[in-house]
Amino acid sequence: MIRAGVFVNRAGDSSFGHKEFKLGIPLLDLSRQYETIQEELEAAALRVLRSGRYILGPEVEAFERECAAYLGTSDSVGMSSGTDALLAALMALEISPGDEVIVPSYTFFATAGSVARLGARPVFVDVDKDSLCMTAEGVEAALSPRTRAVIAVHLFGRVADIPAIREVLDPRDIPLIEDAAQAIGGRWKGRPAGSLGTLACFSFFPSKNLGALGDGGLVGTDDEDLAARLRKLRNHGQVAAYEHDEVGGNFRLDALQAAMLRVKLPHLDNWTEGRRAVAARYRRLFAELGLEAEVQAPEDDPDRHAYHQFVIRVPAEKREACLEALREKEIGHNVYYRVPLHKQPCFAPQDGAFPVSEDAARRAVALPVFPELREDEQAQVVRVLASVLLS
Ligand SMILES: *Cc1c(COP(=O)(O)O)cnc(C)c1O
Repeated sequence: MIRAGVFVNRAGDSSFGHKEFKLGIPLLDLSRQYETIQEELEAAALRVLRSGRYILGPEVEAFERECAAYLGTSDSVGMSSGTDALLAALMALEISPGDEVIVPSYTFFATAGSVARLGARPVFVDVDKDSLCMTAEGVEAALSPRTRAVIAVHLFGRVADIPAIREVLDPRDIPLIEDAAQAIGGRWKGRPAGSLGTLACFSFFPSKNLGALGDGGLVGTDDEDLAARLRKLRNHGQVAAYEHDEVGGNFRLDALQAAMLRVKLPHLDNWTEGRRAVAARYRRLFAELGLEAEVQAPEDDPDRHAYHQFVIRVPAEKREACLEALREKEIGHNVYYRVPLHKQPCFAPQDGAFPVSEDAARRAVALPVFPELREDEQAQVVRVLASVLLS
């Protein structure tokens, strides 16, 4: 419930403080994107419908080539989802029961779930207080003789310092997987997210920065042997018709999704710039409304943050009031991630302290961010936050 007089009306909008007034601003509105490329998408979909080739095939091969060119990797292998991309990447690295894989404690579930599905143990490390990504120091402290791989997550589109982590891992021959599910389009000092590790996993879940019209994923790599292995693993480990030299799965990408992604990929850099402009406007609005002491905005990148999400941190004791005000005004929002992974009941309790993950879980609020979001909508979002945080 809103308490009377809570809403601050700084822009002279007389309807703003009225309790029946709903703003209806979505967290993400994919229909706005669809309108801008409707004809291209529909033509590509028809092409696939009429082709009679619905799984893998020429559309997927073309998308793999285009995606590798975009990422600057020598190869890329289409997968059925980001989760399957992670699972197949770990299988290609022969992760097995008893192995340890270092992962951040503050990320989407699949990062660690894929490790546990292979009988290996996810070893959690806390994240950096500014970037919310894993650090080289954190990884180094978590190494053990059983460490077989590390998964670094580019959380919310902020690219992790992979070169620093690799300085720890390369001398020990430990491979690094980039979980780039949230970061396609992002860059680290000129190099695309997904071109920095041994393997990089992407998701094309519809809400990701490059979204299919269903599930899809991809693994990018410069290692030809790993790419060949991934192609085999995604098709039940089959080497020739009905001949299997290892057990894989069905991790294949659909032709229809590849065709949709081929339409969208050439727009990705523009959309990333659109997201960055939205982020810059939020920062300006926070300053204009005097919210800088109350709102911790995401740390900007050394190079190019992909802003998959725009997650602010507010004082923990005011977070629920912020969420309630956003809900009341029908402003899309979310909390990533309420329960850090080291506290999930499905994973064995872990040693160590995770103060940054736990603090972020108590303070995070994700605000609407997508390239087509309008400035007036953002101003309303920030005014609603101000009504709570400055009261
Ligand atoms: C979305 C996501 C995944 C999983 O991708 P799906 O395509 O949904 O299976 C993995 N890791 C991170 C960090 C994600 O955000």
